[in-house]
Amino acid sequence: MTTAAGQQGRTGGGERATGTPADGPASDRVRVRRLPDRGRYDRHLIASILDEGFVCHLGFSSGGTTWVLPMAYGRHGADLYLHGATGNHALRTLRDGAEATVAVTLIDGLVLAKAAFHHSVNYRSVMLLGPAHAVVAPEEKRLALEVVVSHIVPGRTADARPPTDPELRAVTVLRMAIDEASAKVRTGGPVDDAEDRTLPIWSGVIPLTPHAGVPMGDEWAMGIEPPAYARAYRRPG
Ligand SMILES: Cc1cc2nc3c(=O)[nH]c(=O)nc-3n(C[C@H](O)[C@H](O)[C@H](O)COP(=O)(O)OP(=O)(O)OC[C@H]3O[C@@H](n4cnc5c(N)ncnc54)[C@H](O)[C@@H]3O)c2cc1C
Repeated sequence: MTTAAGQQGRTGGGERATGTPADGPASDRVRVRRLPDRGRYDRHLIASILDEGFVCHLGFSSGGTTWVLPMAYGRHGADLYLHGATGNHALRTLRDGAEATVAVTLIDGLVLAKAAFHHSVNYRSVMLLGPAHAVVAPEEKRLALEVVVSHIVPGRTADARPPTDPELRAVTVLRMAIDEASAKVRTGGPVDDAEDRTLPIWSGVIPLTPHAGVPMGDEWAMGIEPPAYARAYRRPG
């Protein structure tokens, strides 16, 4: 299981914002209130959690409804990139600086307490708040798409055919600054009430880690060896 301490210090290229474990929240609205000792604001830890994940849940408001969509993302320094079709509801809503919330969750283990009430999950999660902006410059759009692909499969960008200009035009890319963000981390075993600790019920942690299977080439990959990054695929962390 990866601990919060093990996550400190890992950052991607082009880092803009830096910080220390003692960093406080960037604003009051990203201050973790419930179990505040689990709140972390260190930019390196936040970056490492974002790097280990690649699916976020994107929250935004439109037409009187609060929406939450799962989306892939990529991190480049202190920017997070999201992309999708130009007609995408979320991206159209957010493209001019509207407020968004991004949540990324890594599950490290299932925590089985003796009491049902005290069951929990070991996790590292990040919430990022702030305005999103459409990326207009074709060079940055191209970079952002490379970032998303290599965030998910490091090494793939060098092999894959780059996007054509019409493909670039068919995509909206959003950038969010990773400024107003918090992490929350739970580690360790169950916390049972003292009077329950001697109950004859198994308690402990079931570690969970993502597992990549053996790559399966499609019909057009006959005779082509899977590349090393596919054969040895694993998430960072
Ligand atoms: C896998 C998983 C399962 C969870 N299950 C439950 C559950 O079943 N019930 C439950 O009550 N809570 C659960 N939580 C915790 C939940 O995410 C919230 O942290 C908590 O419910 C409320 O915290 P709060 O009152 O401080 O939030 P708020 O006051 O709403 O949040 C204030 C600020 O704290 C920060 N923050 C809050 N939560 C997180 C987070 N998880 N990660 C990063 N930053 C955060 C944000 O910046 C937010 O803007 C779970 C978390 C995870 C990752």
